Amino acid sequence: MYNTKMQDIIRQLLAELGENPAREGLLDTPKRVEKSLRFLTSGYAADVDAVMNNALFTVDYNEMVIVKDIDFYSLCEHHLLPFFGRCHVAYIPQGRVLGLSKIPRLVEIYSRRLQIQERLTNQIAETLREKILPMGVAVVMEASHLCMSMRGVEKQNSVAVTSAMLGVFREDARTRTEFLELIRRPETGDRPVRVPLPGLACVTD
Ligand SMILES: [Zn+2]
Repeated sequence: MYNTKMQDIIRQLLAELGENPAREGLLDTPKRVEKSLRFLTSGYAADVDAVMNNALFTVDYNEMVIVKDIDFYSLCEHHLLPFFGRCHVAYIPQGRVLGLSKIPRLVEIYSRRLQIQERLTNQIAETLREKILPMGVAVVMEASHLCMSMRGVEKQNSVAVTSAMLGVFREDARTRTEFLELIRRPETGDRPVRVPLPGLACVTD
């Protein structure tokens, strides 16, 4: 668990920032930062197949399955700063469903990596398509990016929204609309602001 190399690097980083790594408050910081970073990137070591393979069930059910308001926390790969928010997932099975608790687990595995929001959204959708072979999959993610709000790049309360629509959710506007209606918040004042972001969800410089 101890990795003196990583802790040395963090100690050097503190010195580069103009700090004294030997002062009392910072003595254990390298150890804490290492532990924290390893936890926040633990998704690399997680085995998606092992998580999902024993949770697939054959059923005669072909209505939309929705899991909404899944909290997630990730790290933006451009700044190593958090972005976090809510993820909404839907699929329409054809003969096969996934245990419901596995969907938040899947979101967590891909979130605990260095990410951009667009790729995170796609990875969740593509994995569900591969494993469940459904009629379609929809994933919407709404997130605040500290690399934008802390650095004053964007308005404090702006939220980046990304979506991946596969199969019937892409082809059939009614199915897509039904899903979007179901995840919509009733109180209109709380709607996230849709930020037009070409290419990347965070500002890269
Ligand atoms: Zn960023």
